[in-house]
Amino acid sequence: MITVEEALEKVLDLVAPLPAETVPLRRAAGRVLSRAVTARLTQPPFDNSSMDGYWIAAADHRPGAVLRVEGEAAAGRRYSGPLAAGQAVRIFTGAPCPAPGGIVVLQENVTRAGDCVTLPEVLADKDNIRPRGQDFAEGDRFFPRHPLSARDIGLIAAMNVAEVPVHRRPVVAILSTGDELVEPGDTPGPDQIIASNGLILAAMVEAAGAEAHLLPIARDTEDSLRAAFTAARGADLILTSGGASVGDHDLVGAVAGAMGLERSFWKISMRPGKPLMAGRMGQSVLLGLPGNPVSATVCAALFLRPMLARMLGHDARPAPLQAVLAADVGPAGPRTHYMRARLLPGTPLPRIEAFESQDSARLGILAEADALLIRPLGDGPRTAGEIVAYLPL
Ligand code: AMP
Ligand code: MG
Repeated sequence: MITVEEALEKVLDLVAPLPAETVPLRRAAGRVLSRAVTARLTQPPFDNSSMDGYWIAAADHRPGAVLRVEGEAAAGRRYSGPLAAGQAVRIFTGAPCPAPGGIVVLQENVTRAGDCVTLPEVLADKDNIRPRGQDFAEGDRFFPRHPLSARDIGLIAAMNVAEVPVHRRPVVAILSTGDELVEPGDTPGPDQIIASNGLILAAMVEAAGAEAHLLPIARDTEDSLRAAFTAARGADLILTSGGASVGDHDLVGAVAGAMGLERSFWKISMRPGKPLMAGRMGQSVLLGLPGNPVSATVCAALFLRPMLARMLGHDARPAPLQAVLAADVGPAGPRTHYMRARLLPGTPLPRIEAFESQDSARLGILAEADALLIRPLGDGPRTAGEIVAYLPL
């Protein structure tokens, strides 16, 4: 058996950042840059006022000075008339300053009478001017290594970069297997259940920023599985659920192997989760997840998400957080146990409570859970109040 950390390194070794494509900035949120973008201009392009007030030359900035207002500068419309000593310009936020080296006196700090303003007896020392280039300069580079946030998009837009190079989104073919499964919305036969893994995985794939292609359910026959893998050809990642253990009806490994899968099969010392199947298959990578929905979801959170992140061009290894145990838990056992748990408010750390039942077929508990309480392998019983690690779901 290998550890979860070892298994993660192995699945990550199967994938690499996908090639770049150019997308309009409008479509770039959540994508990861494949190279730096370069500012095409300097921001701000000119010294400008950060407040509404009166621009005056530094030499005129004297307590009680009376200045004549010669003109007006607004955002998008500078004052370019003549200026002499003792003169002021009415100025508004964002307007270019009429000349270098001045000061903007706030409108609430002057007394205006007709064409004249009188400065206060006590002068503020702030100049209320945003100097040219204080944000960034033409040629500055920006290269965040995470999915572009709204804030990143704003910066790139301000740099006047309208298209960006990003890693291509992985196309993920999702294949549910099992004679007992019917699609949600269909009427199950007496021995059948509704397939839930496909929709769980599609939602996770899309939330990670990849493209999900849901294939029809494959039956537990070689023909059906062969047809399904043929339909999955061309996907960057083929995700299967079920049929991957050692039962008589678990044919996924055998069929994929006959179709060229260089199969790796790992027994991972974790709960829930069975052995994980992975490997290269033609142009694709295959990740074979357990059939139990809870196991499939936990394995997807631990292994699929980091794989998708790497293909998308960033690193998103699970990063455990800390919480205070709200109720006692028993010993962890011989494998790392990811217990479905609920977070409760608390300061400075949230509190966490594991569900009584940890049955890996219970979707009701999975839906209620918002965290996986991590019980390290071999960990003894823990009592309420102790600090433990968890992964948000
Ligand atoms: P398997 O790995 O194929 O032996 O499946 C393990 C368990 O998970 C069985 O009880 C299956 O009925 C169930 N299962 C497999 N695939 C799905 C699915 N897509 N949705 C819900 N349950 C499933
Ligand atoms: Mg099955």
